Amino acid sequence: MKCSFCDNQSLYVRPYDKLSLCHKHFNEQMQKRVRKTITRYKMLRRGDRIAIGLSGGKDSTALLDILHKIEKDFQESELVAITIDEGIKNYREEGLHYAKLHADRLGVEHVVYSFEKDFGYDLDEIIEKLGSRGKKRELGACSYCGILRRNVLNKAALEVNADVLITAHNLEDEAETILLNIIRGDITRLARLNPTPRKIHETLIPRAKPFRATPQAEIVMYCIINELEYQEIQCPYAVEAYRGEVREFIFKTQEKQPMLCYNIVRGQDKLLVSMKETKTSKKMKNCEECGNATTGNLCKTCWLKQLLEV
Ligand code: SF4
Repeated sequence: MKCSFCDNQSLYVRPYDKLSLCHKHFNEQMQKRVRKTITRYKMLRRGDRIAIGLSGGKDSTALLDILHKIEKDFQESELVAITIDEGIKNYREEGLHYAKLHADRLGVEHVVYSFEKDFGYDLDEIIEKLGSRGKKRELGACSYCGILRRNVLNKAALEVNADVLITAHNLEDEAETILLNIIRGDITRLARLNPTPRKIHETLIPRAKPFRATPQAEIVMYCIINELEYQEIQCPYAVEAYRGEVREFIFKTQEKQPMLCYNIVRGQDKLLVSMKETKTSKKMKNCEECGNATTGNLCKTCWLKQLLEV
């Protein structure tokens, strides 16, 4: 089959619009969509120092590659990659290797932060400690990991003087998060999923997700055709994630309805416009322990610290 734009052989047919794409035009379309997402949601400004969370997995590897290509248009902007070492034995080491490989390949500044250094425990230790009291852990490993990763990523972004923190969440991730908040009836979190980065507290770096309209299958394809190596093995704790069940539902339904995730994400955009946005900035307080942003008296990180000290 020929490419829809030229006479070259097609490599990929997009299931939702049947566009056939050769190598060159596939790359162009990927870049175009990321640019469009950045512009549409005003994610970046000229001169921004852009921190990107780089795990060494497919999503962040592809996003770093694309952002590095389009960065030239954001004059005087700078990219800095941040890798978080959660301390997951026989897993994180490979991700760190690929993160360093790609940051070095592109000449991007790269910093590595760890749970162990910033929090005093690595994830394996936390899970062991919380599960060693003869009772079941309150939450799945991913919940503790998520709390600390958000905290350490934000801290790293502040320390490298970033204006914005980019994460590589893709279309399915975003649809999953929206569905999870709906399932939990968490309207406050749903309202906070605003795609335009905003400063909601002085201790929080505004965040953006330029891949929020890019399907996972295209990210995998991008890595394959551009020979970008990435970590493929799954985290040993991933099986504990409740998200997994929602993800499974999404992938099954998507086979019959290729527009499913677009519809969920677009629906969320429309909802944000029509819904009286929850005034998250007014609800934010400073944590009594560390001063970071929180909606309660303690931030989640200090809550976890206290839990481990009991
Ligand atoms: Fe952390 Fe869960 Fe991701 Fe593993 S799968 S890195 S525990 S969030």
